[in-house]
Amino acid sequence: MDKETPHLCAECASRLGLTQYESKECDLCGGILQLTTLLDSVSPIFEYSTFSVGVVLPKEILQKEAELVSMYKLRSVRGIKTELNKKTREYLKKRLGKEADIEDPDAIFEINYVKQRVFYRIKSLTISGRYNKYDRGLPQTKWYCKSCRGRGCKKCNFLGKMYPTSVEEIIAAPLLEATHGKMTRFHGAGREDIDVQMLGDGRPFVIEILNPKVRTLDLEVMQSKINEDKRIHVTCLSACTKPLIEKLKNTKYKKTYIAYLDKKLTLEEISKIEKELTTEIEQRTPIRVSHRRSDKIRKRKVYKVIGKNNKTTELEVYCDGGLYIKELISGDKDRTIPSVSSILEKQMLCKELDVIKIHCDI
Ligand SMILES: [Zn+2]
Ligand SMILES: [Zn+2]
Repeated sequence: MDKETPHLCAECASRLGLTQYESKECDLCGGILQLTTLLDSVSPIFEYSTFSVGVVLPKEILQKEAELVSMYKLRSVRGIKTELNKKTREYLKKRLGKEADIEDPDAIFEINYVKQRVFYRIKSLTISGRYNKYDRGLPQTKWYCKSCRGRGCKKCNFLGKMYPTSVEEIIAAPLLEATHGKMTRFHGAGREDIDVQMLGDGRPFVIEILNPKVRTLDLEVMQSKINEDKRIHVTCLSACTKPLIEKLKNTKYKKTYIAYLDKKLTLEEISKIEKELTTEIEQRTPIRVSHRRSDKIRKRKVYKVIGKNNKTTELEVYCDGGLYIKELISGDKDRTIPSVSSILEKQMLCKELDVIKIHCDI
Protein backbone atom coordinates (compact mmCIF):
# COMPACT_ATOMS: atom_id res chain seq x y z
CA MET A 1 0.00 0.00 0.00
CA ASP A 2 1.25 3.44 -0.85
CA LYS A 3 1.95 4.93 2.57
CA GLU A 4 1.84 8.51 1.36
CA THR A 5 -1.48 8.38 -0.43
CA PRO A 6 -3.61 5.37 0.36
CA HIS A 7 -6.59 4.73 -1.89
CA LEU A 8 -9.70 4.02 0.12
CA CYS A 9 -13.24 3.25 -0.95
CA ALA A 10 -15.94 5.59 0.32
CA GLU A 11 -16.88 3.09 3.02
CA CYS A 12 -13.37 2.66 4.39
CA ALA A 13 -12.52 6.35 4.07
CA SER A 14 -15.50 7.46 6.12
CA ARG A 15 -15.17 4.60 8.59
CA LEU A 16 -11.58 5.56 9.35
CA GLY A 17 -12.15 9.31 9.08
CA LEU A 18 -9.72 9.61 6.19
CA THR A 19 -12.10 11.10 3.61
CA GLN A 20 -9.25 12.98 1.93
CA TYR A 21 -8.05 9.64 0.49
CA GLU A 22 -11.36 8.56 -0.98
CA SER A 23 -10.93 6.78 -4.27
CA LYS A 24 -12.66 4.34 -6.60
CA GLU A 25 -10.22 1.54 -5.71
CA CYS A 26 -9.60 0.35 -2.19
CA ASP A 27 -6.15 -0.71 -1.02
CA LEU A 28 -7.64 -1.83 2.26
CA CYS A 29 -10.74 -3.95 1.76
CA GLY A 30 -10.26 -4.56 -1.94
CA GLY A 31 -13.97 -3.96 -2.44
CA ILE A 32 -15.18 -6.59 0.03
CA LEU A 33 -17.21 -3.94 1.81
CA GLN A 34 -19.20 -3.46 -1.38
CA LEU A 35 -20.41 -7.01 -0.59
CA THR A 36 -19.19 -9.61 -2.99
CA THR A 37 -20.85 -12.43 -4.88
CA LEU A 38 -19.77 -14.74 -2.07
CA LEU A 39 -22.74 -13.44 -0.13
CA ASP A 40 -25.12 -14.44 -2.87
CA SER A 41 -23.95 -18.01 -2.57
CA VAL A 42 -25.40 -18.20 0.95
CA SER A 43 -28.19 -20.72 0.46
CA PRO A 44 -28.98 -22.74 3.58
CA ILE A 45 -30.87 -25.94 2.92
CA PHE A 46 -31.95 -26.54 6.49
CA GLU A 47 -34.65 -25.18 8.76
CA TYR A 48 -33.78 -22.11 10.83
CA SER A 49 -35.60 -18.99 11.92
CA THR A 50 -32.71 -16.89 13.22
CA PHE A 51 -29.14 -16.53 12.06
CA SER A 52 -25.91 -14.76 12.76
CA VAL A 53 -22.83 -14.23 10.61
CA GLY A 54 -19.14 -14.60 11.17
CA VAL A 55 -16.74 -13.09 8.66
CA VAL A 56 -13.28 -14.51 8.13
CA LEU A 57 -10.91 -12.06 6.41
CA PRO A 58 -7.43 -12.52 4.99
CA LYS A 59 -4.78 -11.59 7.54
CA GLU A 60 -3.29 -8.97 5.20
CA ILE A 61 -6.45 -6.86 5.30
CA LEU A 62 -6.40 -6.74 9.09
CA GLN A 63 -2.69 -5.94 9.04
CA LYS A 64 -3.16 -3.10 6.55
CA GLU A 65 -5.89 -1.64 8.68
CA ALA A 66 -3.71 -1.81 11.79
CA GLU A 67 -0.94 -0.03 9.86
CA LEU A 68 -3.29 2.77 8.80
CA VAL A 69 -4.61 3.13 12.33
CA SER A 70 -1.14 3.55 13.76
CA MET A 71 0.17 5.70 10.88
CA TYR A 72 -2.64 8.25 11.21
CA LYS A 73 -3.02 7.75 14.97
CA LEU A 74 -6.71 6.98 14.50
CA ARG A 75 -8.85 6.51 17.57
CA SER A 76 -12.11 4.68 18.20
CA VAL A 77 -12.27 3.27 14.72
CA ARG A 78 -14.97 0.75 13.87
CA GLY A 79 -12.88 -2.12 12.50
CA ILE A 80 -13.48 -3.57 9.09
CA LYS A 81 -14.56 -6.89 10.57
CA THR A 82 -17.23 -5.35 12.78
CA GLU A 83 -18.43 -3.23 9.89
CA LEU A 84 -18.54 -6.15 7.49
CA ASN A 85 -20.35 -8.36 9.99
CA LYS A 86 -23.01 -5.73 10.42
CA LYS A 87 -23.40 -5.02 6.71
CA THR A 88 -23.54 -8.72 5.91
CA ARG A 89 -26.16 -9.33 8.55
CA GLU A 90 -28.35 -6.53 7.23
CA TYR A 91 -27.92 -7.68 3.66
CA LEU A 92 -28.79 -11.30 4.39
CA LYS A 93 -31.71 -10.32 6.58
CA LYS A 94 -33.31 -8.72 3.56
CA ARG A 95 -32.24 -11.36 1.08
CA LEU A 96 -33.26 -14.39 3.14
CA GLY A 97 -36.20 -12.84 4.99
CA LYS A 98 -35.01 -14.20 8.35
CA GLU A 99 -34.27 -12.61 11.70
CA ALA A 100 -30.72 -11.93 12.82
CA ASP A 101 -29.88 -12.98 16.37
CA ILE A 102 -26.37 -12.47 17.71
CA GLU A 103 -26.97 -14.11 21.08
CA ASP A 104 -28.40 -17.52 20.30
CA PRO A 105 -29.09 -18.04 16.59
CA ASP A 106 -30.35 -21.29 15.04
CA ALA A 107 -27.51 -21.08 12.54
CA ILE A 108 -24.26 -19.21 11.97
CA PHE A 109 -23.13 -18.47 8.44
CA GLU A 110 -19.38 -18.22 8.25
CA ILE A 111 -18.47 -16.07 5.26
CA ASN A 112 -14.91 -17.09 4.67
CA TYR A 113 -13.02 -14.71 2.35
CA VAL A 114 -9.81 -16.69 2.76
CA LYS A 115 -11.27 -19.90 1.40
CA GLN A 116 -13.89 -18.06 -0.68
CA ARG A 117 -16.55 -20.32 0.75
CA VAL A 118 -19.55 -20.22 3.05
CA PHE A 119 -19.68 -22.61 6.02
CA TYR A 120 -22.82 -23.37 8.00
CA ARG A 121 -22.93 -24.09 11.68
CA ILE A 122 -26.30 -25.30 12.88
CA LYS A 123 -27.24 -25.08 16.53
CA SER A 124 -27.92 -28.42 18.24
CA LEU A 125 -31.45 -29.25 19.22
CA THR A 126 -31.81 -30.08 22.90
CA ILE A 127 -34.71 -32.15 24.12
CA SER A 128 -35.37 -33.19 27.69
CA GLY A 129 -37.43 -36.00 29.10
CA ARG A 130 -37.44 -38.88 31.55
CA TYR A 131 -36.77 -42.50 30.80
CA ASN A 132 -37.61 -45.82 32.36
CA LYS A 133 -35.54 -48.87 31.59
CA TYR A 134 -36.98 -52.37 31.89
CA ASP A 135 -34.06 -54.40 30.62
CA ARG A 136 -31.08 -55.70 32.58
CA GLY A 137 -28.82 -55.82 29.54
CA LEU A 138 -29.11 -52.30 28.24
CA PRO A 139 -26.46 -49.62 28.87
CA GLN A 140 -27.50 -45.98 29.14
CA THR A 141 -25.26 -44.74 26.37
CA LYS A 142 -23.44 -46.19 23.42
CA TRP A 143 -20.51 -48.16 24.78
CA TYR A 144 -17.63 -48.20 22.34
CA CYS A 145 -15.61 -51.38 21.91
CA LYS A 146 -12.46 -51.23 24.05
CA SER A 147 -10.34 -53.04 21.49
CA CYS A 148 -11.09 -50.94 18.44
CA ARG A 149 -12.60 -47.81 19.99
CA GLY A 150 -15.50 -47.77 17.59
CA ARG A 151 -13.83 -48.65 14.31
CA GLY A 152 -15.11 -52.23 14.36
CA CYS A 153 -13.13 -55.41 14.96
CA LYS A 154 -13.58 -59.18 15.40
CA LYS A 155 -14.15 -58.80 19.12
CA CYS A 156 -17.19 -56.56 18.69
CA ASN A 157 -18.52 -58.29 15.60
CA PHE A 158 -17.57 -55.20 13.61
CA LEU A 159 -20.23 -53.14 15.39
CA GLY A 160 -17.66 -50.91 17.08
CA LYS A 161 -19.58 -51.21 20.33
CA MET A 162 -19.96 -53.63 23.23
CA TYR A 163 -23.76 -53.88 23.20
CA PRO A 164 -26.15 -53.90 20.25
CA THR A 165 -28.03 -50.86 21.51
CA SER A 166 -28.55 -48.50 24.45
CA VAL A 167 -31.14 -46.19 25.99
CA GLU A 168 -29.49 -43.35 24.08
CA GLU A 169 -29.66 -45.12 20.72
CA ILE A 170 -33.29 -46.18 21.15
CA ILE A 171 -34.28 -42.59 21.98
CA ALA A 172 -32.04 -41.15 19.27
CA ALA A 173 -33.24 -43.24 16.33
CA PRO A 174 -36.57 -41.54 15.56
CA LEU A 175 -35.12 -38.12 16.41
CA LEU A 176 -32.20 -38.52 14.01
CA GLU A 177 -34.54 -39.75 11.32
CA ALA A 178 -36.91 -36.80 11.73
CA THR A 179 -34.23 -34.11 11.98
CA HIS A 180 -31.65 -35.61 9.59
CA GLY A 181 -29.18 -34.90 12.38
CA LYS A 182 -25.64 -36.14 12.35
CA MET A 183 -25.36 -37.73 15.79
CA THR A 184 -26.55 -37.36 19.36
CA ARG A 185 -25.08 -36.70 22.77
CA PHE A 186 -26.87 -38.03 25.78
CA HIS A 187 -26.81 -36.49 29.26
CA GLY A 188 -28.57 -38.24 32.13
CA ALA A 189 -29.12 -37.16 35.72
CA GLY A 190 -26.59 -39.84 36.67
CA ARG A 191 -26.67 -43.34 35.26
CA GLU A 192 -27.60 -46.82 36.40
CA ASP A 193 -25.49 -49.91 35.83
CA ILE A 194 -26.32 -51.90 32.75
CA ASP A 195 -28.07 -54.62 34.82
CA VAL A 196 -30.14 -52.18 36.88
CA GLN A 197 -33.71 -51.28 35.95
CA MET A 198 -34.90 -47.67 36.06
CA LEU A 199 -38.47 -47.69 37.39
CA GLY A 200 -40.87 -45.19 38.99
CA ASP A 201 -41.25 -41.86 37.21
CA GLY A 202 -37.95 -42.29 35.39
CA ARG A 203 -34.59 -40.59 35.13
CA PRO A 204 -34.33 -37.05 33.70
CA PHE A 205 -32.15 -36.70 30.63
CA VAL A 206 -31.29 -34.30 27.85
CA ILE A 207 -30.51 -35.50 24.36
CA GLU A 208 -28.61 -33.20 22.01
CA ILE A 209 -29.08 -33.64 18.29
CA LEU A 210 -26.09 -32.33 16.39
CA ASN A 211 -26.46 -30.65 13.04
CA PRO A 212 -30.24 -30.99 12.67
CA LYS A 213 -31.66 -30.02 9.28
CA VAL A 214 -35.19 -29.95 10.70
CA ARG A 215 -35.98 -28.15 13.96
CA THR A 216 -39.75 -28.40 14.20
CA LEU A 217 -40.71 -31.71 15.70
CA ASP A 218 -43.95 -33.19 16.91
CA LEU A 219 -42.62 -34.44 20.22
CA GLU A 220 -45.74 -36.45 20.96
CA VAL A 221 -45.21 -38.42 17.78
CA MET A 222 -41.51 -38.79 18.61
CA GLN A 223 -42.37 -40.06 22.08
CA SER A 224 -44.73 -42.73 20.80
CA LYS A 225 -42.21 -43.83 18.19
CA ILE A 226 -39.52 -44.19 20.86
CA ASN A 227 -41.93 -46.07 23.09
CA GLU A 228 -42.57 -48.72 20.46
CA ASP A 229 -39.43 -50.29 21.89
CA LYS A 230 -40.64 -51.96 25.06
CA ARG A 231 -37.22 -52.10 26.71
CA ILE A 232 -37.60 -48.46 27.68
CA HIS A 233 -40.36 -45.91 28.19
CA VAL A 234 -39.97 -42.18 27.72
CA THR A 235 -42.20 -39.45 29.17
CA CYS A 236 -42.28 -35.62 29.37
CA LEU A 237 -40.41 -35.10 26.10
CA SER A 238 -40.01 -31.34 25.58
CA ALA A 239 -37.70 -28.76 24.06
CA CYS A 240 -35.15 -27.34 26.48
CA THR A 241 -32.09 -25.12 26.47
CA LYS A 242 -28.44 -26.05 26.89
CA PRO A 243 -27.91 -24.84 30.48
CA LEU A 244 -30.13 -27.70 31.65
CA ILE A 245 -27.37 -30.11 30.62
CA GLU A 246 -24.88 -28.61 33.06
CA LYS A 247 -27.48 -28.59 35.77
CA LEU A 248 -28.27 -32.27 35.23
CA LYS A 249 -24.61 -33.23 35.19
CA ASN A 250 -23.48 -31.19 38.16
CA THR A 251 -26.23 -31.91 40.63
CA LYS A 252 -26.19 -35.01 42.80
CA TYR A 253 -29.76 -36.10 43.24
CA LYS A 254 -30.89 -38.34 46.06
CA LYS A 255 -32.12 -41.75 44.97
CA THR A 256 -34.35 -44.52 46.16
CA TYR A 257 -33.42 -48.08 45.26
CA ILE A 258 -34.75 -51.55 45.83
CA ALA A 259 -31.99 -54.06 46.40
CA TYR A 260 -32.83 -57.75 46.18
CA LEU A 261 -30.55 -59.70 48.52
CA ASP A 262 -29.11 -63.12 47.78
CA LYS A 263 -30.34 -64.54 51.11
CA LYS A 264 -33.56 -64.12 53.03
CA LEU A 265 -33.05 -62.39 56.38
CA THR A 266 -34.91 -62.89 59.64
CA LEU A 267 -37.17 -60.10 60.89
CA GLU A 268 -34.61 -59.30 63.62
CA GLU A 269 -31.89 -58.97 61.03
CA ILE A 270 -34.08 -56.72 58.89
CA SER A 271 -34.79 -54.35 61.77
CA LYS A 272 -31.07 -54.29 62.68
CA ILE A 273 -30.27 -53.27 59.10
CA GLU A 274 -33.03 -50.65 59.03
CA LYS A 275 -31.54 -49.08 62.15
CA GLU A 276 -27.78 -49.42 61.66
CA LEU A 277 -27.52 -48.79 57.95
CA THR A 278 -29.30 -45.42 58.30
CA THR A 279 -26.11 -43.46 58.84
CA GLU A 280 -23.16 -41.92 57.05
CA ILE A 281 -21.38 -44.43 54.84
CA GLU A 282 -17.68 -44.31 54.04
CA GLN A 283 -17.15 -45.79 50.65
CA ARG A 284 -13.86 -46.32 48.92
CA THR A 285 -14.08 -46.52 45.13
CA PRO A 286 -15.41 -50.03 44.39
CA ILE A 287 -12.98 -52.58 42.98
CA ARG A 288 -15.20 -53.15 39.95
CA VAL A 289 -14.98 -49.52 38.78
CA SER A 290 -11.48 -48.71 40.06
CA HIS A 291 -10.00 -49.06 36.57
CA ARG A 292 -12.00 -46.05 35.37
CA ARG A 293 -12.61 -44.01 38.54
CA SER A 294 -10.01 -42.45 40.78
CA ASP A 295 -9.46 -44.20 44.09
CA LYS A 296 -10.90 -42.13 46.91
CA ILE A 297 -13.16 -42.35 49.91
CA ARG A 298 -16.61 -40.81 49.59
CA LYS A 299 -18.97 -40.04 52.42
CA ARG A 300 -22.62 -40.50 51.57
CA LYS A 301 -25.70 -40.69 53.75
CA VAL A 302 -28.38 -43.32 53.90
CA TYR A 303 -31.56 -41.59 55.09
CA LYS A 304 -33.98 -44.47 55.30
CA VAL A 305 -34.06 -48.23 54.89
CA ILE A 306 -37.23 -50.30 54.74
CA GLY A 307 -36.85 -54.05 54.53
CA LYS A 308 -39.43 -56.66 53.67
CA ASN A 309 -39.51 -60.31 52.75
CA ASN A 310 -40.97 -61.62 49.55
CA LYS A 311 -39.22 -64.38 47.61
CA THR A 312 -36.10 -62.90 49.10
CA THR A 313 -35.35 -59.90 51.30
CA GLU A 314 -35.89 -56.57 49.57
CA LEU A 315 -34.33 -53.43 50.96
CA GLU A 316 -35.70 -50.06 49.95
CA VAL A 317 -32.83 -47.61 50.41
CA TYR A 318 -33.23 -43.82 50.27
CA CYS A 319 -29.77 -42.23 50.05
CA ASP A 320 -27.45 -39.61 48.60
CA GLY A 321 -26.62 -39.82 44.92
CA GLY A 322 -23.21 -41.32 44.17
CA LEU A 323 -23.46 -44.14 46.70
CA TYR A 324 -22.72 -47.55 45.17
CA ILE A 325 -25.56 -49.79 46.35
CA LYS A 326 -24.17 -53.18 45.35
CA GLU A 327 -21.16 -52.43 47.56
CA LEU A 328 -23.40 -51.08 50.32
CA ILE A 329 -24.76 -54.62 50.50
CA SER A 330 -21.57 -56.65 49.94
CA GLY A 331 -19.14 -54.38 51.78
CA ASP A 332 -16.68 -54.73 48.91
CA LYS A 333 -13.99 -56.35 51.11
CA ASP A 334 -14.44 -53.69 53.82
CA ARG A 335 -14.07 -50.82 51.40
CA THR A 336 -17.65 -49.76 52.22
CA ILE A 337 -18.34 -49.24 55.94
CA PRO A 338 -20.83 -49.99 57.31
CA SER A 339 -22.51 -52.41 54.91
CA VAL A 340 -25.25 -55.00 55.18
CA SER A 341 -22.50 -57.63 55.36
CA SER A 342 -20.55 -55.85 58.11
CA ILE A 343 -23.67 -55.22 60.21
CA LEU A 344 -24.83 -58.84 60.00
CA GLU A 345 -21.28 -60.24 60.13
CA LYS A 346 -21.92 -62.48 57.15
CA GLN A 347 -21.29 -62.12 53.46
CA MET A 348 -24.37 -60.74 51.68
CA LEU A 349 -24.76 -59.90 48.02
CA CYS A 350 -27.08 -57.73 45.99
CA LYS A 351 -28.67 -60.11 43.52
CA GLU A 352 -30.66 -57.53 41.61
CA LEU A 353 -31.13 -53.80 41.83
CA ASP A 354 -33.74 -51.31 40.67
CA VAL A 355 -33.80 -47.53 40.90
CA ILE A 356 -37.32 -46.54 41.88
CA LYS A 357 -36.94 -42.79 42.26
CA ILE A 358 -34.56 -39.98 41.35
CA HIS A 359 -35.37 -37.13 43.72
CA CYS A 360 -35.10 -34.35 41.20
CA ASP A 361 -37.25 -31.30 40.50
CA ILE A 362 -36.70 -31.23 36.74
ZN1 LIG B 1 -12.62 -0.34 1.35
ZN1 LIG C 1 -14.15 -53.69 18.27
